[in-house]
Amino acid sequence: MVTKLPDKHTAEEFELLGNVGEDFGRFGKTDRKCSRCGNDFEYFENSSSYRTSCKTPNCLEEVVRGL
Ligand SMILES: [Zn+2]
Repeated sequence: MVTKLPDKHTAEEFELLGNVGEDFGRFGKTDRKCSRCGNDFEYFENSSSYRTSCKTPNCLEEVVRGL
């Protein structure tokens, strides 16, 4: 599994993104808010990867490949 981060994330932010991805995978939504700007998260998934990101451009984002 390769995780790509476009910007530097703290351990807390990384954990938050992991939890958000888990929420979307399990429930199809999340109530968590971005710890940087307070915006909502969005989630995209295809056959080989998924992306969890804040709706604010260039804020928190995580791409996970190799599902
Ligand atoms: Zn944000």
